[in-house]
Amino acid sequence: MTAGGQRSLHQAAVAQFQRAADLIDLEPRYREILSYPKNEIIVNFPVTLDDGSLRVFTGYRIQHNNILGPYKGGLRFHPQVDLDEVRALAAWMTFKTALAGVPYGGAKGGLTLDPADFSRDDMRKIVRRFTHALGSNIGPDHDIPAPDVGTSSETMDWVMDTYANISPPGFRQSVKGVVTGKSIAVGGSIGREEATGRGVLYSLRHWCGETGTRLDDLSVAIQGFGNVGSHFGLLAAEAGCTVRGVADHTGTIVNLEGIEVEKLRSWVDEQGGVAGFPGADDASTEDLFSLDVDVLVPAALENQVTLERAKAFKGRLIMEAANGPTTPDADDYLNDNGIDVVPDILANGGGVIVSYFEWLQNKSARAWSFEDVDDRLRDLMWQAHDRVASTHKEHNCTRRDAAYIVALDRLVDVYNRRGIFP
Ligand code: GLU
Repeated sequence: MTAGGQRSLHQAAVAQFQRAADLIDLEPRYREILSYPKNEIIVNFPVTLDDGSLRVFTGYRIQHNNILGPYKGGLRFHPQVDLDEVRALAAWMTFKTALAGVPYGGAKGGLTLDPADFSRDDMRKIVRRFTHALGSNIGPDHDIPAPDVGTSSETMDWVMDTYANISPPGFRQSVKGVVTGKSIAVGGSIGREEATGRGVLYSLRHWCGETGTRLDDLSVAIQGFGNVGSHFGLLAAEAGCTVRGVADHTGTIVNLEGIEVEKLRSWVDEQGGVAGFPGADDASTEDLFSLDVDVLVPAALENQVTLERAKAFKGRLIMEAANGPTTPDADDYLNDNGIDVVPDILANGGGVIVSYFEWLQNKSARAWSFEDVDDRLRDLMWQAHDRVASTHKEHNCTRRDAAYIVALDRLVDVYNRRGIFP
């Protein structure tokens, strides 16, 4: 427990899978294994910054589980990053990859800093030293980082280049798959940039099919306008949804007639945030959560949908584009009050799915077309949703519990076959 008696984020993540484990009477040995990360790597490394000063940074890489394949998950650079958060995010990756049916385990890493506080040159040095400090703890068949909050394709290009440079000369060309989410020129995949947002839209389409709702009838509020929120917003507007509200770190904007998302994106590119966008009114963060919309898409950080905000929500569906956006008490309230929640490990799996495609392309030295990537993304998202939908009915449980049950089935099947060493 934290000082205030609240569950830590990692404890909340463990409680989520334990709930589903109860429903399927999961053997205690597997509960025990999955309650702990396998490895916790903490590195402290010095960097001489542009101004000549030296600073020591602390970096994390938490490897939660690798029974299904190499550890996989993003690197987060944000002032809020700490060991507990990275532990929770790593555990969620294990369940996300198992649910998506991609041959990976789960991991997450990060640095506690705001990239906006550093020059590009400083960031490059920090990323290179972090990669160097991680050394052989990452690798294309061992642990494969990717972008997350505060990191981008540029960050991944630097990680890959550094890793290649510390590899023996004969291996430098074959280690491109040490990270995914690289820029296309450097070995990334077409479609990876928007994959998470695109996957969230497939999730919304699937929910529409399940509930007999028309996608173009839906109104939406989006919290977060970074990679995931902005791509989802663009695609949702293109599909006919009315985007009524958007919030980010600079403010909240509302237009009940619909925000022109394409114009908003250009505004954000120039101004750095949504605040002051001429095509909408400024509002407060709380206004976003109580807005008259059908769907709320949290696409920012954890614990944003609190009990108070859940009570204020007037819509039918929370689509979790972020990882861990709903607090446990809010989750209970939403379930008790018939508001659907499509859980993070299902809704935002599109990112890691296309990461898998990038890794396959790197292994085979081939480049797929956008259609190849998108068709296969849709197939994998659809299969995961179908399984969750039938488990949700069969067990008469929440979609979150159903998603964990599907993931646990896959993990436990492999544990049962392989056994526990020695
Ligand atoms: N950071 C993303 C996530 O939370 C993507 C991870 C990946 O592609 O490995 O799912």
